[in-house]
Amino acid sequence: MAILAVGSVALDAVETRAARVDGVVGGSAVFFSAAASLLTEVRVVGVVGDDYPLAQLGFLRERGVDFEGLLQMPGESFFWGGRYSDDFRARVTTETRLGVFADFDPAVPPGYGDSRVVFLGNIDPDLQMRVLDQVRAPRLVAADTMNFWIERTPGPLERVLARLDMLLVNDEEAVQLAGDDDLTRAVRRIQDLGPAIVVVKRGEDGSVVFGRDWVFECPAWPVPDVIDPTGAGDAFAGGFLGYLDHTGTFDREALCQAAAYGAATGSYAVEAFSVDRFRALEAGAVARRVHSLKELGAPSWTNH
Ligand code: AMP
Repeated sequence: MAILAVGSVALDAVETRAARVDGVVGGSAVFFSAAASLLTEVRVVGVVGDDYPLAQLGFLRERGVDFEGLLQMPGESFFWGGRYSDDFRARVTTETRLGVFADFDPAVPPGYGDSRVVFLGNIDPDLQMRVLDQVRAPRLVAADTMNFWIERTPGPLERVLARLDMLLVNDEEAVQLAGDDDLTRAVRRIQDLGPAIVVVKRGEDGSVVFGRDWVFECPAWPVPDVIDPTGAGDAFAGGFLGYLDHTGTFDREALCQAAAYGAATGSYAVEAFSVDRFRALEAGAVARRVHSLKELGAPSWTNH
């Protein structure tokens, strides 16, 4: 089957202790597709300006990613600038320019209407909603968001939450969104707003999948030499949902296995700038990382 993914298709400027890059391809939909396309078919909805180096996404096209829903408009592409602390734990956004996303009215191509999974990647919640309105009967609707939208567009974000089966967020965002600094209580509040499943991403500390009455913790795949954490969250979501769509199963066992796939694809994102680590990556490498992750520490779930 296939996943429909909407999100930013961006140009990024990133500064880490190791180096600085400017104008590299990024964005939530790009990192998501780079990971998910290793496991299933992906259809992208988004917009870029006439400054976008589309040839750099050629490796995704070759891997079967469908870009019919990616519009190119006159103007500037979405731009994001960020800087990381030396230990990579803190990130400051130095600039966000919406560019052509400010006037984007997404039109989902008719061929995308039957997508089994919908991923509403990090972007204006109004756009997320307009995309969702154009999909017929998805089995699973998942979304991601970040502080930028939590602060600026809380109303539209709440309306999106009401229509979700699953939310993927990092721990700080979960706390900010719920207005409660106890993570478990914050997640329960988010679940009351809509999504039965909340997946909390905790970077090098792994992830936690919260069902309504169970919790599953999955470790991160340890990366010895982090180059750039940008996009790890979206690549995690790509591996997670890519696995679920590939199997067509959405039960608790499948969600726990999906967390291991997310850990593997997230780990590849941090090993290079932009989506560079995904360019020559193959599905077999992801599966091997999932396998060794299980040998590293048996993830387990608990009933609450
Ligand atoms: P992550 O590190 O997983 O949070 O994803 C980082 C990516 O998200 C970067 O490539 C940015 O281009 C993109 N991004 C950053 N801020 C925003 C925003 N406010 N809306 C949409 N995408 C964003």
